[in-house]
Amino acid sequence: ITFQDLALADPIQRALKAKGYTTPSPIQAKAIPVLLEGHDLLACAQTGTGKTAAFALPVLDGFARNPRKPFRRGVRCLILTPTRELAVQVTESFKTYGEGLGLKIGMVFGGVSEKPQIKALYGGLDVLVATVGRLLDLKQQGHVDISQVDTFILDEADRMLDMGFIRDIRKIAAAIPQQRHTLLFSATMAPEITELANSLLNNPQEIRI
Ligand code: AMP
Repeated sequence: ITFQDLALADPIQRALKAKGYTTPSPIQAKAIPVLLEGHDLLACAQTGTGKTAAFALPVLDGFARNPRKPFRRGVRCLILTPTRELAVQVTESFKTYGEGLGLKIGMVFGGVSEKPQIKALYGGLDVLVATVGRLLDLKQQGHVDISQVDTFILDEADRMLDMGFIRDIRKIAAAIPQQRHTLLFSATMAPEITELANSLLNNPQEIRI
C-alpha cells in the first residue's frame, strides 16, 4: 500500500511527496482508512510509529474537502497532548502536512506568557493543539471557544492520566459537542484508558500496533 492508494486530497499528497514519504507506516495504513470513513478510533501505538501523521492526515483531508470558516475564538479540531514538547511536534506535523491548505493552526501550553496565545486564538483556529491546564485556564477566561469542536483527539492519553489530568480531560470533553469525531491514542491499554475510551468514544474501531 502507498499513500497514493489512500486517495488523500492533492495538496496533502504533494506535502507527503515533498517530505519524501511514499509508504504509510503500519499504524497509518490501518488508521487512515478507518478515520476517512468517519469512525471513532482507539489506537494503541508508541511514539516513533508514525502515529502523528496517522491522525493528522485524515483530519487535514477533511479540511481540504470541506473547508470551514474559523469563527471568533472558535476551534474546529482540538488535540490534547500531555506536554509542551509533544504539542510543538504535533503542531509542526499539521503545519507540514497541511501546507497549501491555508489553515489556521495554533497551540497553547503552560509555562509561558498567555498573551501571544490569546492573540492567536482571537480570530479562531482550524486546529488547536493544547495541554489541558492552559486550555482550561484560557477557556475559563473566555479566550477560547470549544463549543463547536467537531474533531477531538487525545494523544498519549496514558501519559495524561499518569500526570493526573483525568478530571481536566473530562471537563474539556463535557464542554465540546457529543456529536463529534473522537480519536484516542495511547502507548498502553491500562484499565483506566479503556474506561476513559468507553466514556468518550462512540463505537470505536480498535487498532493495536
Ligand atoms: P511519530 O510516531 O508520529 O512521532 O513519528 C515518528 C517519525 O516518523 C517522525 O519523524 C515522522 O516525521 C516520521 N514518519 C511518519 N510517517 C512516516 C512515513 N510514512 N514514512 C517515513 N517517515 C515517517
